[in-house]
Amino acid sequence: MIEIDGAAGEGGGQVLRNALALSLITGEAFHITDIRGRRSKPGMMRQHVTALEAACEIGSATADGMAIGAGELTFRPGRVRAGDYHFAVGSAGSATLILQTVLLPLALVTGSSRLVLEGGTHNTMAPPFEFLRDTFLPLINRMGPQVTARLVRHGFYPRGGGRIEVMIEPAPLRPFTGMERGELRTRAARILFTGIPFSIAERMRVQARQCLPEWPQNGFAIHRLPDEQGPGIILLLTVEHAHVAEVVSACGRLGVSAEKLASNAATHMLGYLRKDVFAGPHLADQLVMPLALAGGCFTTVKPGSHSLTAARIARMFTGRRLAFRQTDGHLHQFVAD
Ligand code: ATP
Repeated sequence: MIEIDGAAGEGGGQVLRNALALSLITGEAFHITDIRGRRSKPGMMRQHVTALEAACEIGSATADGMAIGAGELTFRPGRVRAGDYHFAVGSAGSATLILQTVLLPLALVTGSSRLVLEGGTHNTMAPPFEFLRDTFLPLINRMGPQVTARLVRHGFYPRGGGRIEVMIEPAPLRPFTGMERGELRTRAARILFTGIPFSIAERMRVQARQCLPEWPQNGFAIHRLPDEQGPGIILLLTVEHAHVAEVVSACGRLGVSAEKLASNAATHMLGYLRKDVFAGPHLADQLVMPLALAGGCFTTVKPGSHSLTAARIARMFTGRRLAFRQTDGHLHQFVAD
């Protein structure tokens, strides 16, 4: 039985999600204490309980302590089965983070799966749907499995109600190498909004344009979504290179101006572009688990606590040597031997 301190390192929901996925794949049971111990409201929230329920359902697994607020549980995995699954967070909790738990286990068994995920699709502190579709999944597909995701309905905080459909054709994971981005192909900014005045979206666009003067000026688009999918707003900055795409996002938040959101997102994007690495900080922590299973390496920025924690949890289940190393100035490399 693997023992996990849920408050160590990043000490958030990602520790639990990664442990669930790796437990289902390796067949190793685990006991976790102090779940989300570093968050202001520790213990499982709705989305973490949904991830746990999803893991139990796809993997014929058992868990005690399956309740909102629970800080400790023991998870015993069974056999993962492909199939048609429907998981609903039942709040604006992120639907894309539910996928973080079930994707790799289902991508490595025999048989295709179809998932319907309901909840938030465009949340702060979680991958927006476009990051999943354009940044993360193309790399998983390059490793072997074939996964496609379709956004049926947007779900913004606090209303949620979004819907994503995912098709998974499994295959063994091949080792992955992501050392260079390759040549620059496209740069575009998109603002999706609904249920708030157009003028807010326009202010966001003006600011984003100002912060990214070298980007094609006709590449700053605004899309109004159907009223019933809101209220909400998100700015998506996408840069496509030959080998990887990066999506930097900024979700609308009460009390933060459209200008501030746009300049923060632009600063993050410019930082990524200047550093000339393959993976930005979010992609880096999400690539740790597949590479811990398959082996490989990629270049990235200085690893944050999500990445370091992902590597620590993956080491416990796989026993593989996983390390972030500084190679040159601001350049870092993740290596799964
Ligand atoms: P908690 O409430 O405990 O913080 P959580 O379960 O919502 O829990 P984290 O443990 O912080 O979340 O994990 C968030 C995950 O979402 C990480 O894998 C992170 O890389 C990813 N993520 C956050 N923001 C973005 C973003 N803008 N783009 C892509 N991925 C993101």
